[in-house]
Amino acid sequence: MKILVPVKRVVDYNVKVRVKADGTGVDIANVKMSMNPFDEIAVEEALRLKEAGNADEVIAVSIGVKQCQETLRTALAMGADRAILVKTDEVVEPLAVAKILAKIAEEEGTDLVILGKQAIDDDSNQTGQMLAALTGRPQGTFASEVVLDGGKIAVTREVDGGLETISINLPAVVTADLRLNEPRYASLPNIMKAKRKPLDEKSAEDYGVDLTPRHKILAVSEPAAREAGVKVADVAELVEKLKAAGAI
Ligand code: AMP
Repeated sequence: MKILVPVKRVVDYNVKVRVKADGTGVDIANVKMSMNPFDEIAVEEALRLKEAGNADEVIAVSIGVKQCQETLRTALAMGADRAILVKTDEVVEPLAVAKILAKIAEEEGTDLVILGKQAIDDDSNQTGQMLAALTGRPQGTFASEVVLDGGKIAVTREVDGGLETISINLPAVVTADLRLNEPRYASLPNIMKAKRKPLDEKSAEDYGVDLTPRHKILAVSEPAAREAGVKVADVAELVEKLKAAGAI
């Protein structure tokens, strides 16, 4: 079985982003970039399935600028077998990403695609669902547990008010939630080894996908600044203030 894991290069989760002066987006010049945290979880899950003897190959794919190679090398250093960079300098929306992934999944004959549940830069939470729709494959989104059982996969999902376990047929699409696992760190020898693993470079045209954006960002603005807090002398004063504010 082959597992495909799409990994997105995003602004590192520790960085406090700044909105560009002209309000057209977020400034990413000279900002630390990393693999989307949910994608690290997806890579980890694919590797665990392989280590348990359920998969033969884990392929990482990233769609974006040349520097996405670094993100792919991280996936390779974690243990992925090979990588594909679909290189573009254009803005890629979830629909275009899903269309490219659909082509790769078909071309590679992958049985399982494990994505992150969402990318922390645009918070779209769309790509996995769109990929499932485009390929007609069943989807298990927001997975907190994945158990392979022959041609089926049991996905425990984090839903409002608890957990739901569904059984879906392979080939399938799964999106990883935070509690699915704790991703490993790549060891230095594995980082060195990853440099020699295959990394193919492709373009969107190779897959016949038009990247033209379907929507337009009208404005990007900073969230409203939080008001400073006040110190209270004791619990009685706290209760009084909360009552006055209508909070209790
Ligand atoms: P989104 O729908 O943008 O929130 O992204 C959900 C997931 O789709 C991410 O966690 C990645 O696994 C995958 N994904 C989105 N954009 C890309 C991209 N440009 N390259 C590779 N994977 C991506």
